[in-house]
Formats: sequence, structure tokens, C-alpha cells
Amino acid sequence: MNRDYPLERVRNFGIIAHIDAGKTTTSERVLFYTGSQHDIGEVHEGDTTTDWMEQERERGITITAAAITCFWKPTYKGSTLSTDSQGRTLDPDKYRFNIIDTPGHIDFTVEVKRSLRVLDGAVVVFDGVAGVEPQSETNWRYAEEALVPRVCFINKLDRTGASFERSYKSILDRLSKKAVRMQIPIGEEGKHEGVVDLLKMKAYYFEGNMGNLVVEKEIPDNLRVDATKFRAELVEKIAESDDALINDYLEGKEISLETLKVALRKAVIANRIFPVYAGSALKNKGVQLVLDAVVDYLPSPLDIPAIKGIDPRTGEEIERHASDAEPFAALAFKLQSDPFVGQLTFFRVYSGTIESGTYLYNSTTGEKERLGRIVRLQANDREEVKKVFSGEIAAAVGLKNAKTSHTFSDEDNPIILDQITFPEPVISLRIEPKTKADQEKMGMALKRLSDEDPTFKIKSDQETGETVIMGMGELHLEIIVDRMKREFAVEANVGKPQVAYKETITGEAEVENKYIKQTGGKGQYGHVKIKIKPLPKYDPEEKVPKNAHREPGFEFVDAIKGGVIPQEFIPAVEKGIKEAMDRGIVAGYKMVDISCELNYGSYHDVDSSEIAYKIAASQAFQEAAKRSKPVLLEPIMKVEVVVPEKFMGDITGNLSGKRGQIESMEDRGELKVVRAKVPLSEMFGYVTSLRSMTEGRGSSTMEFDHYAIVPTSVAQGIIEARTGSK
Ligand code: GDP
Repeated sequence: MNRDYPLERVRNFGIIAHIDAGKTTTSERVLFYTGSQHDIGEVHEGDTTTDWMEQERERGITITAAAITCFWKPTYKGSTLSTDSQGRTLDPDKYRFNIIDTPGHIDFTVEVKRSLRVLDGAVVVFDGVAGVEPQSETNWRYAEEALVPRVCFINKLDRTGASFERSYKSILDRLSKKAVRMQIPIGEEGKHEGVVDLLKMKAYYFEGNMGNLVVEKEIPDNLRVDATKFRAELVEKIAESDDALINDYLEGKEISLETLKVALRKAVIANRIFPVYAGSALKNKGVQLVLDAVVDYLPSPLDIPAIKGIDPRTGEEIERHASDAEPFAALAFKLQSDPFVGQLTFFRVYSGTIESGTYLYNSTTGEKERLGRIVRLQANDREEVKKVFSGEIAAAVGLKNAKTSHTFSDEDNPIILDQITFPEPVISLRIEPKTKADQEKMGMALKRLSDEDPTFKIKSDQETGETVIMGMGELHLEIIVDRMKREFAVEANVGKPQVAYKETITGEAEVENKYIKQTGGKGQYGHVKIKIKPLPKYDPEEKVPKNAHREPGFEFVDAIKGGVIPQEFIPAVEKGIKEAMDRGIVAGYKMVDISCELNYGSYHDVDSSEIAYKIAASQAFQEAAKRSKPVLLEPIMKVEVVVPEKFMGDITGNLSGKRGQIESMEDRGELKVVRAKVPLSEMFGYVTSLRSMTEGRGSSTMEFDHYAIVPTSVAQGIIEARTGSK
């Protein structure tokens, strides 16, 4: 069976946005325009916006599915490129889009990080009133780390207070100087009518049902001067990005539209330019031209670098290219339950192919599972798929043992792809099933939810036996508890949210310890000498020495010489240390960011055992931790508060009183925007108190930023509360 769609006509991309920027509305428009492609000039009367959306909802519109497939025929035949960045000829007719969902809420930014792994490009949506918001910065940073090419869409230009220029400047100032206007809006706020395309120097208006008729006209007189000026900026930026063009440009030669587009495509794929578009999804303006930009400038799977992974047999780094001829390799990126077909495991194939009805080898677990059915989700349909080719995205039905971030691969050519590191949860709460019947269901429900979401964790309190759930914010856990009730019918009592403190060391120490026991029969003998020191920030790219093992927050270095401790006992030493780190010595919180070197010890032919080394190491670690200036760490949140000017003084005073650092204050129309870094422990219930401080007119957003040392005066209270309550 052959590939049904040439890979150069596939775009795997995501729509990334701050909550409320208009991701849902934009996605709905995308599905509408892609699902009902009428030729230009053809208007479908009768089926109004609401009709269409009602129908889609009845059929179960899937804009929240992890990946939706749709097809896009660029607005103007021939308006798109006829060759791609590698000179391959393109059919300008139809493109397959796999749109990968990225979560909207700030508590789920890490999910954005995960979805960025599987998409090749992104459309970043901004609110044309607010411009860049804190979550946009975080998402942008993740995209930057993952080197995901981006086009920007400044949405909501019809809203009162909207400004394309101001929003565009906020992108330049706060995200990247590599952004450049591709368009300017024709009118803003109540007068927003369409957009000017600066490359083609034409005006576009959106008429017909839901704006599905794109009409090209001349640029209105009042915008000519601006358009000419901004086009020059755009052309300069494109020319500068391309050595072959810069000379022509400097000599003042005219560069053809096609040449500019080819160069721009290269620059966008290389993350050297971020094109910026304008419009209003709600008022049906501009979305189609953004889809054309996806085709023109975002990469196909062939344009991105080969994916890297580890060969589990040798530990060596290996690569897979987007080719059907290479061995199969795919990444499971999302688990989701579908009301019609049950559990879906969404995966992206990086190389090779896979067919339904075969066995799927999970190289992360080493297990095999029958792959019964494969589907592809469309706006209102689930299409059965027999075979999935490299570069494509699909969902497996009913897999039992696969989790998010597992790799599937050819059994004879295994590879493990995923090395995403997720931040540890910052907040926890106790949860107790209401009845005996709920108890069992709760365990199952929580397991399912944590399989889906790597930032959600379950723990049982060693002392009380209670279940503790941990996540990225109050809302994150609220949503989980709510889903547990709704989707799994579990009733539970939940406790108050608690900050997940951590502990670390700020100094170094070396400790030698023997654990020896002689009680008749076989005794115990373990002897170790360890040295601990603070571990710099985890960097997955950094080369780790051969004798070291590194994971986020911990490094173990085996510096044993001459076999003074036999190899077989060394894993037990590491295990003992890790267990000791789970209960820190300041207040019993997990210890992080520690490097531990095992450099000396001895053994006994008869009495040495794994357990003896584990205990010896654990005791040595506790002593070393005490001597190396241990401290408490707390999560610090990035907070943005938007209030009318007259409340500014109260708000900043209040934040400072919460140990907050005010980072900036800015105008946004009539409103003031305050940005600050504040410890999470001070922010519980902030939404409610902000409301009462501002007569209900203030709003705020918050997300995790980093862990920082708790000041001594505050730490004392935390330690007392923790140890006193025992
Ligand atoms: P999401 O949270 O990013 O998915 O945002 P939504 O698409 O749900 O939009 C949030 C709110 O903004 C909704 O009330 C939308 O109707 C509104 N909205 C979205 N796009 C636009 C737009 O272009 N113009 C205006 N005026 N409102 C919009």
C-alpha cells in the first residue's frame, strides 16, 4: 500500500495561544474553512455561522482532540510556492493539515512543551488588545528551545482597544526582534474590515458566509504610505536573511515575489524570521491567509532535522529520518478517551510505517501489544486508517499499556525517542474517597489521569497512608478532581492545597560510613565514602561522563577505583542515596539538585549485601546533607495583574507585602499591567482578594517560574509547621 499523500504537502502544526486569545474561535474557523472549501466566487447562502457550529457540535466537533486532520486548498491557485525549500515541485492544490492541540490554560504550559515535540511549526495567536501576555512568553520560550518555526496571528483586531501596532511592538520587545509584519489591518476596532498583504501589496476583504469568500482589491489610499514603508522593511529583512539576495537588494534590483517567498520560507524554517499576520477570527477576517502562510512558510516533515534518540541496547545516540524506508519509530504524545471508540493513543510516526492488525513494539517498556485499529480524527468524522506513513499523525484505538511519551519502534531496530523533562509539581493536596466503593475507583481514575498527564502525580503519604495528588497549580488539581467526579463517578473529599517545597544543599561535604552487623549467622557489611555538592541546572544536551548517571535534579558518579566495592553493589549505593533524598533533612521535603560521588569503600566476602550498602549509603548521605548547608526551596510564580490605574498603589503594595518582586509596570490602554515574581505560598486565594481590592475590575494570571531558596525567617515557620504537626 502506498502513501496517500506526498509528505511535502503535509503540515503538522499547532495553534498556540494565551487563554482567551482566541484559539478556540480560530480553530473553529480553520475547520470551517478547510471543511467547506468553495472555489472563489462561490458563496453558499443559508447555512449561517451558528447553524454550522450547532451541527458540528451535534456530531461531536473535535476541536479539543489531540490532533485533527483537515485539508486546505490555498486561497489563490498559484499564490503559493511552486517549489519547496529543497527545490521539490509542489502541487498547489491541496495540503493535509494535522493540527495538534496545545492546551490553553497556564497551568498546562508543560503540555505545550510536550506537544511542541511532535509538531513541526506553530501559529501563535495573540489578543490584539493585550498583545504579549505572560503565558505567551513561556510558550514562546518553549518553542524557542524546541526550535519550532512560528507564524504570529494578532487576533481580535475588531475589539475596542485593539491595536495591531502596539501588539506587534510587544512581540518585538518581549519575544523576538526577528518578527516582521506581513500585513497591516484595514481599520481597527469597530472599523476593522480586512488586511493589506505587504508582499503582494493588495487589500483583502472577507465576504460571503462566514467570510469564506476572499476578495482582492487595491490598497485603500489612506494606507498606501504605511504599506509602502512596511513593505520596504519586510523586503529588507528577507533579503538580509539570504546571502544570495542581499547583493541584489543592496544594488537596488527588484526582487520577484516568488524569490522573496522562497527566501522567506527558508528563513522561517530556520527560525530566522517570524512573520506576523492580522485579523479577527470572530469577525471572520484573516484566518484563510494565515492558513496560506502555514502552507507557504511552515515546514513539512521533510524540512525538519532528523529526530534523535537512544538505542536501548547500546545507549548510543541514533537518528531517524522522515522516510518510509527507514525502520519504524513513533512517539505516543497524548492519551485521550473518545466517547465513541474508547481509549485513543495519539502518535507521530518519525520514520518507517505501521499497519493496523500488526503488533506494536513499545521500546520504552519492551512490551508488545496488538494494534487493532488506527483512526484519524477529522472535524466530524473518525477515518479508519490501514497504514500510517512517516511524518504522519494518527491514533491507535484501545492500547492498554502505552503511556504518553512512550516510543514505539521496530523491534529489531529499537530506539527510544523521548527525553522531555517536565517540571516537578509545585502544589499538592490530600484526597480521600467518600466510600469504600469510591476507593477502588479512585485509584484507577487517578492512575488513568496521571498516565495522560506527566505533570500530575499521585503519592501515598508514608505516615498516614493518605493519597496525595500533586500538580502545577490550584486550577490544575481542581480540574483533575472535577474530571474524576464527572468521567469516573468518584466522590472524594479534598484537603487544602499545599505548596510543594523542596530541599537542596548549598555547600559540599564528604562522609565515610560503615554499616556492620554481626548477629550470629550471616552478618551485614557495607562501607562507602561519598562526596556531595550542588548540581548545576539540568541540561539534557550536556555530555555526561561515562562513569556518571544524570537525571533531572540528581547525578551519581561512580569513582570507585580498583574494585574496592564490587560492581554489583554500586546500584544499591545509588538507590540508598536516592531514597534518602526523598525525605530531606530540613523538613522532610524531597531533596533536589545534588551531585553525589562514590569514591571509596570496602567489602566483605561473606557479609556484604545490597541492603547493607543501601543502608550505609543512605546514612552517609544524611550526614553529608546535614554538613553541606541544606536549605528549603519554594516555587516562585510569574504573576501578571491588570487593573485600572487608581488601584495601582494598592496592588503593588499588596504584592510587595507578599514578598513579591515587582518587575515592570506598563500601560495597556486605560489599564495598568503589573508584572511580578511572587512565592506561591503567598498567592493562595489571590483571585478572590484581588476582586475585593479592585471592586471586581482587576484580573490576574499566574504560572510557575522557578524554585528559590526560602528566606531563613520564613523557613523557620515552615519547618515548625511541618515538624510540629507530627
Ligand atoms: P481561547 O481561550 O484562546 O480558546 O479563546 P476563545 O476562542 O474561546 O475566545 C475567547 C473569547 O474571545 C470568546 O468570548 C470569543 O468569542 C472571543 N474572541 C475570539 N476571537 C475574537 C475576535 O477575533 N474578536 C473578538 N471581538 N472576540 C474574539
